[in-house]
Amino acid sequence: MSDRVHDVVVAGGGPAGMALAAAAAGRGLDVLLVEHRRFPIDRACGEGLLPAGVRALQELGLRSRLGAADASPITALRWIDAAGPSMELALPAPGGLGVRRTALSAVLLEAARRAGAEMLEAEVEDHRRDAGLVEVRTSAGPVRGRLLVAADGRGSPIRMREGLDAGAGSRPRFGIRRHLALAPWSSAVEAHLGAGVEAYVTPAGVGRVGVAFLFEPPNAGGWSALLGRFPVLAARLEGAAVLSEDRGAGPLVRGSTARVRDRLVLLGDAAGSIDPLAGEGVSLALAGALELAGLLPDAIVAGATREALRGWERAWQRRQRPAVAWAALLLALTRRPRLRRRLISLGAARPRPLERLVALALG
Ligand SMILES: Cc1cc2nc3c(=O)[nH]c(=O)nc-3n(C[C@H](O)[C@H](O)[C@H](O)COP(=O)(O)OP(=O)(O)OC[C@H]3O[C@@H](n4cnc5c(N)ncnc54)[C@H](O)[C@@H]3O)c2cc1C
Repeated sequence: MSDRVHDVVVAGGGPAGMALAAAAAGRGLDVLLVEHRRFPIDRACGEGLLPAGVRALQELGLRSRLGAADASPITALRWIDAAGPSMELALPAPGGLGVRRTALSAVLLEAARRAGAEMLEAEVEDHRRDAGLVEVRTSAGPVRGRLLVAADGRGSPIRMREGLDAGAGSRPRFGIRRHLALAPWSSAVEAHLGAGVEAYVTPAGVGRVGVAFLFEPPNAGGWSALLGRFPVLAARLEGAAVLSEDRGAGPLVRGSTARVRDRLVLLGDAAGSIDPLAGEGVSLALAGALELAGLLPDAIVAGATREALRGWERAWQRRQRPAVAWAALLLALTRRPRLRRRLISLGAARPRPLERLVALALG
């Protein structure tokens, strides 16, 4: 093993890890990011970013790097009940963005490299924290750091090894997504709401829409069966060429019992994933990474102890709690069709009060 000790070793090169690598290296820290997949990385994702995510991209100087081929401004959320009623709620400034994950991955990689972060294509296999350092065993050999950031996703092996996993909840849900060659017909993200299944349609570039289904297991049955529950949407998609391999994921919600330990931080989905029906995962990952990067220089000087990292636990709680509450509210509505239809009918007639609620929750 070399004698080199990095300030930060980041495990995982998804939106959370890459944004942290870019922002922390930009603050002068010596950052090594370890990712076992090849860039640009694809993933099961609805690909809708909310205003907080767009602001984070702006802060990283990346919004203008995402061109019309792979990114579409989103101005509103449209809820369409499979039984009929629909409403559209405007998003607060600066609006959202539908962006292909591979394009997001490519610009984040460029930003991290430009800031001076180093990349290691390898699997993180194990880690050991001791008095002053963390030693990380990777498939390319051991590396050392003053701090390990676990940004290794919803199933975070590091969270598991640390005994910080809080499980998947009692009614696990799953997701599957596909891209189709179609000109987006709207600048809204459409949520088609059925019994135990939702379909999310996100514009993701001039000639592409992404469609993601979220469902509870008894309602699965493959792409055609899921789409068959939404005849209006199925008619829209009829005959469109498929642009991507189907990707599935689940259980969608995973929690952690704590976000910091001595020389260890959990970030992004590794710290806790929220049901994607809220569309917040990538935005929380990006915005959280920027906030964490701001705390790290002082925390590392102070020894990267749990005490020195406590600011991250507080920041995480502050962002996560409203997001969890918003997701729980939406999930409750998906499970109560009569209430949902009444709310959608009300919102269609008078959208302003609900738009204010959306601005509070997602602004
Ligand atoms: C079906 C579905 C739809 C979704 N829709 C949306 C949406 O519309 N909007 C939204 O904001 N969010 C959405 N999400 C959530 C979003 O995808 C996640 O919140 C987001 O990807 C979290 O980013 P992350 O960087 O924390 O984790 P990830 O994107 O999971 O990245 C983790 C990275 O760690 C790497 N890794 C893991 N283990 C190791 C290891 N041992 N060694 C090295 N590397 C490792 C992985 O290869 C991966 O690249 C959706 C999720 C699903 C499943």
